[in-house]
Amino acid sequence: MAFSFELKKSIPGFQGRSGEINTPHGKIKTPAFIPVGTKATVKSVLPDSVADVGAQAVLSNAYHLYLQPGPDLLDDAGGLSKFMNWDKPTFTDSGGFQVMSLGVGFKKVIDMNSGSLNSDDLIAEKRERLAHVDDEGVTFKSHLDGSLHRFTPEISMQVQHKIGADIMFAFDELTTLHNTRKYQERSLERTRLWALRCLDEHKRLTDERASKPYQALFGVLQGAQYEDLRRKAAKDLGAMESSGISFDGFGMGGALDKSILGTIVRWMAEELPVNKPRHLLGIGEPADLFAGVENGADTFDCVAPTREARTSAVYSPDGRFNVSNGSYRKDFSPVDKDCACYTCTNYSRAYLNHLFRAKEILGPTLATIHNLHFIVNLVERMRLSIENGDFQEFKKDFLGRYQARSVSTEASPT
Ligand SMILES: [Zn+2]
Repeated sequence: MAFSFELKKSIPGFQGRSGEINTPHGKIKTPAFIPVGTKATVKSVLPDSVADVGAQAVLSNAYHLYLQPGPDLLDDAGGLSKFMNWDKPTFTDSGGFQVMSLGVGFKKVIDMNSGSLNSDDLIAEKRERLAHVDDEGVTFKSHLDGSLHRFTPEISMQVQHKIGADIMFAFDELTTLHNTRKYQERSLERTRLWALRCLDEHKRLTDERASKPYQALFGVLQGAQYEDLRRKAAKDLGAMESSGISFDGFGMGGALDKSILGTIVRWMAEELPVNKPRHLLGIGEPADLFAGVENGADTFDCVAPTREARTSAVYSPDGRFNVSNGSYRKDFSPVDKDCACYTCTNYSRAYLNHLFRAKEILGPTLATIHNLHFIVNLVERMRLSIENGDFQEFKKDFLGRYQARSVSTEASPT
């Protein structure tokens, strides 16, 4: 079968579960963390290293690949997986998040108390939205050269089919927690209509490109922090059919009030078909991953582990710390003594401290390998704990130690 999802075990009393996604490029045991390779590369590391840390798939961005090198080139190359020499499954997001957020100070997770912005045209304080959204699609400026472009649901599908990832996302409108309730309602309806158009175009392209490996399409659920809107989005897209097809899975998207992240995921999970996979978009901090897994998200992606690594912030069971701080200059212990990654097996905090201070390229590479290993394995351990029936104990043990010293930060867009 070209694409399927098999349920394994659930967390008693919760929507969370373990399972297995099958794609033309192999399987993904879930829950799983999917590293982000924005421009068909996980920044600073070889695909072999990404595989060595246990990653089962990577997620690239349709917006970035559309601008550079362009979808036709990826199609000519035989698709994303072949082009980047990654023989496991791949995802692409729809480009919607990037076209509507890049360069305008948008944050994926917004502090509800960060001030009162009353205009729907504002995304962050004093920053105006540069993308123009209408019922047909979005007109936006390239962050590379300022040139004007347009994405519609149809164009997003065409771009993602040419990129050729195993799992694609429907084109949706991004809102923020600052948008008014009325705007959220209008936007949700727009996203619903766009989802229908995505299914139609996806069916047309799947037939037209029947010789290519099957690409699965996930519908994206919006609704911000409103329970009725989140449940409606999940019901609508969960039951949606057009051109004789339905979504293969679902992306849980949009602005998320982090203080109730698990609750928002639960609202959607309770309404969605149980036998289809769910991806929580742009979430990757340990406490958020536990909340997402517990409440029914199967896969996750986030730039945080790799982006933070490049600024010398590394994860440990006692929280995240900055290895370039002076206190680690003569610390010859590994980043995490219990970690089996290449970095911790072979190098000291003192060496990483030196590399970052000397601005050597190897610093980001070694820190990225460690952070990816840490987060990928954290979610893998959640999967094993679900199968062993001790998820709650694992969650309590891990977070008890991690949060004692850690300061949580926001995830931000690519
Ligand atoms: Zn390590």
